[in-house]
Amino acid sequence: MKVCKFGGTSMATAASVTNVKNIILSDPDRKFVVVSAPGKRFSGDTKVTDLLYAAYAEQQKNGDVIRLLDEIKSRFVTLATEMKVEIDWDSEFKTIYDGIARSATDDYAASRGEYLSAVLMAKVLDFDFVDAAELIKFRKDGSFDAMLTNDLVEKRLKHAEKGVVVPGFYGRLPDRTIKTFSRGGSDFTGAIIARGVAADIYENWTDVDGFMVTDPRIVSDPQLIDVLSYEELRELSYMGASVLHPDSVFPVQAGGIPINIRNTFAPEKPGTLILKDVSGYDRPLVTGIAGRKGNTNITVAKAMMNDEVGFCRKVLSVIERYGLSVEHVPTGIDTMSIVISDMRAKHVDGEKLLNDIRGMVNPDSIEVSESMSLIAVVGHGMANTPGTAAKIFTALWKAGVNIRLIDQGSSELNIIIGVEDDDYNAAIAAIYDAFFKA
Ligand code: ASP
Repeated sequence: MKVCKFGGTSMATAASVTNVKNIILSDPDRKFVVVSAPGKRFSGDTKVTDLLYAAYAEQQKNGDVIRLLDEIKSRFVTLATEMKVEIDWDSEFKTIYDGIARSATDDYAASRGEYLSAVLMAKVLDFDFVDAAELIKFRKDGSFDAMLTNDLVEKRLKHAEKGVVVPGFYGRLPDRTIKTFSRGGSDFTGAIIARGVAADIYENWTDVDGFMVTDPRIVSDPQLIDVLSYEELRELSYMGASVLHPDSVFPVQAGGIPINIRNTFAPEKPGTLILKDVSGYDRPLVTGIAGRKGNTNITVAKAMMNDEVGFCRKVLSVIERYGLSVEHVPTGIDTMSIVISDMRAKHVDGEKLLNDIRGMVNPDSIEVSESMSLIAVVGHGMANTPGTAAKIFTALWKAGVNIRLIDQGSSELNIIIGVEDDDYNAAIAAIYDAFFKA
């Protein structure tokens, strides 16, 4: 039994939806389908989810939601007409117009893309539609309730006679309002359904041939990764590889279910397989290279810091008060650096934060840089292979890249390197070449 999730580009046009239909109907094991909202049909187009966020914003601003919703409606009407299915769009959209006017957050609006996409796909396939609101549950505090959800998915879907289509991306709070996951969250929904029905495999259908070793915008035509472990996937997607939502690994890992990344537009290709145990496979030393720009690095220096018990805790407590997450904390004898990834995104007042640190620990100096890139070189093979780090650092030296930070995780699954944002592309390319072209 297979769970198949199809992303936005797979749901965007009648041609791609026809591919989806053919893929599902070619294999009777493909019984559970999770869909995203229609994505871009061409470059420069707008995703339905983005139109829905914009519709909500317009409703808040001037009470007018009609213009953008009509644009979305016409996309669904065209899709349904070309797929030759009949759906009462007037009544579906009437409910959505009213719902957006009533809802207190943009989550309800944003979720309707997946909802409508699933209504359409269920008709196209002649499968049952099951609303994610009935299955995916959040607690009162907004956190995802994995146990309750798993029970509901198991009870409702596991023994279903007919194929089922479920919308991705959202679920429901105890007060019955709709809540979405973070962007790209339909991958997570697919993983949750796969676990709940104890699928043999979770197929994630997208618009690329699989997971690439690194970002194709930096290295042209990078190699594909045939096999990845759950841990490698987590590291790479957390560090910026964007094929799968980073949380997707947890439900499938709990159920030991393999993930297969496949291409809707080239279904004959095997894609990337993500497994619990990769030990039987012949794999390269480094599996993937991913990274993120724009991190903040704060370096605090104070003579005799090493003698001051509680120094690190005090500095970190300030960061915590600002609700920031700490990525790395490299320390020297009299210096401590804190690397933060979300300072810009959270619009934190940097001067105020520094003053609070000054007040807390009275340092000799504090320096801030807002342009640090973090690069993760990931692979189980690195742990027992002498010379791996030397190869990375030699490549960076030869490329003229100055290394600002080094952190080798204790699991030896990854080596993290911090460089200036301006050096980011050169660093990724140099590491890729050292391991995959030499
Ligand atoms: N449609 C949502 C987004 O654009 C969720 C998803 O596609 O997974 O983020």
